Amino acid sequence: MDFIFFNIIKSAKKFRALFLDLIFPIECLGCDREGEWLCDKCYKEIKLKPKQYCLHCKKENDLGDFCAPCKIIYDLDGVWIAALYDEVLISQAIKSLKYHFISGLAGELSKLLIVCLNKILEQRRILKSSLIDGVDWRIFKQTKNLPLAILNFSDNLIIPVPLSKKRWRWRGFNQAELLAKEVAEKYDLAIDKSNLIRIKHKKPQAKLNEIHRLENIKGCFNWQGGNLNKKNIILIDDVVTTGATLNECAKVLKANGAGEVWGLVVAKG
Ligand SMILES: [Zn+2]
Ligand SMILES: [Zn+2]
Repeated sequence: MDFIFFNIIKSAKKFRALFLDLIFPIECLGCDREGEWLCDKCYKEIKLKPKQYCLHCKKENDLGDFCAPCKIIYDLDGVWIAALYDEVLISQAIKSLKYHFISGLAGELSKLLIVCLNKILEQRRILKSSLIDGVDWRIFKQTKNLPLAILNFSDNLIIPVPLSKKRWRWRGFNQAELLAKEVAEKYDLAIDKSNLIRIKHKKPQAKLNEIHRLENIKGCFNWQGGNLNKKNIILIDDVVTTGATLNECAKVLKANGAGEVWGLVVAKG
């Protein structure tokens, strides 16, 4: 019975993909050139966020971590943001992915996540080159302050921010999961797509202010896996606004033994 049901869903999805191809032929969101969702020329014109910052007070820094006074109110260690949502091509691409169900755009958007991560990781690379000449105390001190998620990058576990079942049924895929898969594959990191679940579908966050967002999202997630044994985690999502959702996930993961929890998102809304 389950098998028949699964096949019906699968055919329905195929039909939907075919139908969408007819009404949304593949053409560049920036210049309408046919054949790809974002052509090379338009892709190169996307402005990435030049510096990371503390998501709470917006003070710029290198690692996207929360500064000391802001840290107190977060379970999340920080957020790495690739671009700003004001960037027209970014907002168009994210909307097309989420609301026009153009899952092919996940590949393009994940490239931005990778560029962003590479930039963060460059700070660790400084160490490797200096190691050849012997460890300099200043470099040692500098890397001592690097978060473990960056220092031991290959040990991170990737987790996409989950959708509620209701939303998943409506969209047919989780955009965060598509992005997460690409990132995990690129860096050969472990990924867990099923154990962090969204148990409640609350009011949409978009119309709420920061305090109400934090309240609204409380108790929405559950971790079904075992103890995370200090594993560092990178949570992936398409957009961050106040960080309430990422923070609630971090809270649940840390309650289940996670070490550091960082967010990695395409855009700040
Ligand atoms: Zn183009
Ligand atoms: Zn701050």
